[in-house]
Amino acid sequence: MSKIFTIFGNPVSHSISPLIHNFAIKKLNIDACYTRTLLENSKEFKNIFINSGFNGANITVPFKEVAFNSCDAVKDIAKDIKAVNTIIKKDDKLIGYNTDAPGFYEGIKDMKDIKSVLILGAGGTAKAISFILREKGYSVTILNRSQARLEPFIKNGFNAYSWSDFKIKNFDLIINTTSAGLNNNSLPLEEKLLRKLFCKANFAIDVIYGKHTPFLKLAKENKLHTKDGLFMLLNQAVLAFEIFFDYRYSFEDIKESMKKAMSLL
Ligand code: NDP
Repeated sequence: MSKIFTIFGNPVSHSISPLIHNFAIKKLNIDACYTRTLLENSKEFKNIFINSGFNGANITVPFKEVAFNSCDAVKDIAKDIKAVNTIIKKDDKLIGYNTDAPGFYEGIKDMKDIKSVLILGAGGTAKAISFILREKGYSVTILNRSQARLEPFIKNGFNAYSWSDFKIKNFDLIINTTSAGLNNNSLPLEEKLLRKLFCKANFAIDVIYGKHTPFLKLAKENKLHTKDGLFMLLNQAVLAFEIFFDYRYSFEDIKESMKKAMSLL
């Protein structure tokens, strides 16, 4: 029987997941399709998942924590992050994964000479990236505008600072996980401070994609190697696809199809 997958979110109409998953499904000749589901009420998540007959799903903002709490079992790093972006149904049970975290790591693991990382922001994306990088042996520090969101990081043993209590140090890689620069021209941190950090760093990544953000512009001006968030978007989708189809297709074949789909945008 044909398998059916979806992405849950609100909003969800902007998501390119249906395009890239369906493109790969077609290229690899699989009997399946991938839809999108606008979820109005998070309490309905599990009911809709089960009653719509989905075999699996991706979950985007703001339902990754709800999805985590709806799973019967959660795998790997998702247990630490406490958020899932990928679920499969197996023997009528929902099994949750987080592919954002390994998707990010996959894109930086070959970058040489990175030991210490500064993550700007303390939201959901910062959580996924911080846990996976610490697990892989990097020294991770979090810097956020306000104190409130730092609590879960401090509780989990991260070096985590708000703007008011941060002291400059050397970091090899600076990652912007804030939404500063997404719909405006703001930097995620005071320019003077950011320039000082860039002077001592070699790499800068902005998880925002499809846009040359003020953060990346400033990093380039300071001669850093830079990267936007497209690689993370692509890798999390490839890893989810592997899970959906039980690792029957190679990472490289899936990635190739999805990259082609993205080039059509
Ligand atoms: P959250 O809403 O969970 O967190 C946002 C964080 O950004 C908070 O720490 C907030 O600080 C900080 N922030 C917001 N505006 C500013 C500002 N003007 N200056 C400084 N800090 C600011 O967001 P997410 O983690 O869900 O998403 C963050 C970004 O990551 C988005 O731009 C999103 O598009 C991108 N993203 C990219 C993905 C990819 O695959 N490439 C995947 C997922 C997300 P405070 O606590 O002080 O409010």
